[in-house]
Amino acid sequence: MPSSVAPSRSIARKIAFAAGGASIVGAVTDLVVYSVLLRTTPSKAGPIAVALACLLALGVGLVVVKVVLSRLGVPLRRLVDAMSKAEEGDFLTRVPVASDDEVGALSTAFNRMLAAITNLRVSVIDQERELEIASERLGLQEALQAKSGELERRLQERRLLFDVLATSTSSLSLDDVLTAIARSCGEALGLREFGILLREEAVDGPPGLARHHPEFVVRAAYGFKQPSQVLGLRRHAGEGVSGEVARTGQAIVIDDVQNDDRYLSYGGLVERVGSFVCVPVRFRDEVIALLDFTRSEVRAFSAPEVALFGAIGEVAAHAIGNARLFERVQALSLTDELTGLGNRRQLEERLEAEFERANRFQQPLSLLFIDLDHFKLLNDRAGHPVGDSVLRGVARVIRQAVRKLDTVARFGGEEIVVILPRADKSEAIAVANKVRERVFAEMMPHPESGAQPGGAITVSIGVATYPSDAADARTLVSRADEAVYAAKRAGRNCVVGYGVAAPRTRASA
Ligand code: GH3
Ligand code: MG
Ligand code: MG
Repeated sequence: MPSSVAPSRSIARKIAFAAGGASIVGAVTDLVVYSVLLRTTPSKAGPIAVALACLLALGVGLVVVKVVLSRLGVPLRRLVDAMSKAEEGDFLTRVPVASDDEVGALSTAFNRMLAAITNLRVSVIDQERELEIASERLGLQEALQAKSGELERRLQERRLLFDVLATSTSSLSLDDVLTAIARSCGEALGLREFGILLREEAVDGPPGLARHHPEFVVRAAYGFKQPSQVLGLRRHAGEGVSGEVARTGQAIVIDDVQNDDRYLSYGGLVERVGSFVCVPVRFRDEVIALLDFTRSEVRAFSAPEVALFGAIGEVAAHAIGNARLFERVQALSLTDELTGLGNRRQLEERLEAEFERANRFQQPLSLLFIDLDHFKLLNDRAGHPVGDSVLRGVARVIRQAVRKLDTVARFGGEEIVVILPRADKSEAIAVANKVRERVFAEMMPHPESGAQPGGAITVSIGVATYPSDAADARTLVSRADEAVYAAKRAGRNCVVGYGVAAPRTRASA
């Protein structure tokens, strides 16, 4: 920007020339008067006086010019120079104050103004610096907050994974494990609903032509309004979001379920609003389960959260794998843990084998269905542990009362079944009575069970025989069961053969 302060003309010079000019005009006038007087007046005194006046006027004029230039011109020049410098940004410059006149006052005022501007600039610089420091601090604080938020989130994630891990090892029952995982995830993640779907092999078509295909069944449900309706819901591989995740093994995130036709909303059992994530649970390259996460808000799941769901899936995979293995081992085992007798599975296997043999050799086959009398009462009065030990004792007595080749198995609860190969109805009834008597005689009534009706531990036994009572194993069992009911109706502690009239009064040993 060109300097607008530097003047092209000097006011001091103008004043000087004005004042000096007047004196010079006076001097010139005097000179004219002097020359006229010199020609017209014979006397010398007049011209001399005029010449002196002319010299005086000239001298005064020169002095005026000199004084005006030095007293006014120089200070003004300095003031203008300082203003020019200030205009260029040099606020530290100052005008020398040489006089106490108006120019001096003007210079002093100008110097003060410069000082004020300098102070102002210093305070502006200070404020800017403070502002800079404050924003730096704010930035640091925000970064710190973000970091601590991140740390807190990580910590929560670890806590949740640990929870899932802990709950998944707390029980070996698959349903317990799944329910516990569903609850801890649902609560910790603030989900609207959370579901776990397990892979099951479904079978279609008639025997021989049966086709196996995987299905995913809801086995644990958190947050659902009608959990009983959701549990058991099935999805084929390829059906809906879950089906697609099962087929591809890749998680699916739906930011807004309203805009996605793949979302089946659990057959309409949940609200079709918000967002949804389905994550596969893999075990040895196979999708063994699916985890469904829902929230009411759209775009409610962030990428880090979905990654966390993947980690939950990995933990769940081990839990599910372990529980399944345990279930399989249990299913494979043939012995009942409490009584040491055969279990239901052994009963079914042996019954089938014995039935086939009986059928092939045209031999009879009998079944004893033994049920402890008033066992609930015993439990209620003496406690469950006493009930257990009584059950173990009865099992031992029965085992000892029958032949080695007979199968003794716990059917369930306090019901024990004995398979008597090659025994007809009357032989079987005789064995049943022997068993009943032995139990009555050998089972010492527990002090607290003295109040059992009849004062003793007793059993009721139903007897059914192949081929007279049933043509297949399943029917034979239910016939024997029906006979037990007849024995109960007859007063308990007695034996009833299927199709045989029950004893009129309660049998006694
Ligand atoms: P009833 O003479 O009509 O057979 O009467 P009940 O009380 O024996 O029959 P109910 O079927 O009402 O009760 C069976 C009871 O057996 C109930 C259940 O608590 C008990 N029970 C079943 N399994 C076990 C077990 O493993 N241990 C113990 N202690 N009790 C069991
Ligand atoms: Mg019973
Ligand atoms: Mg009973």
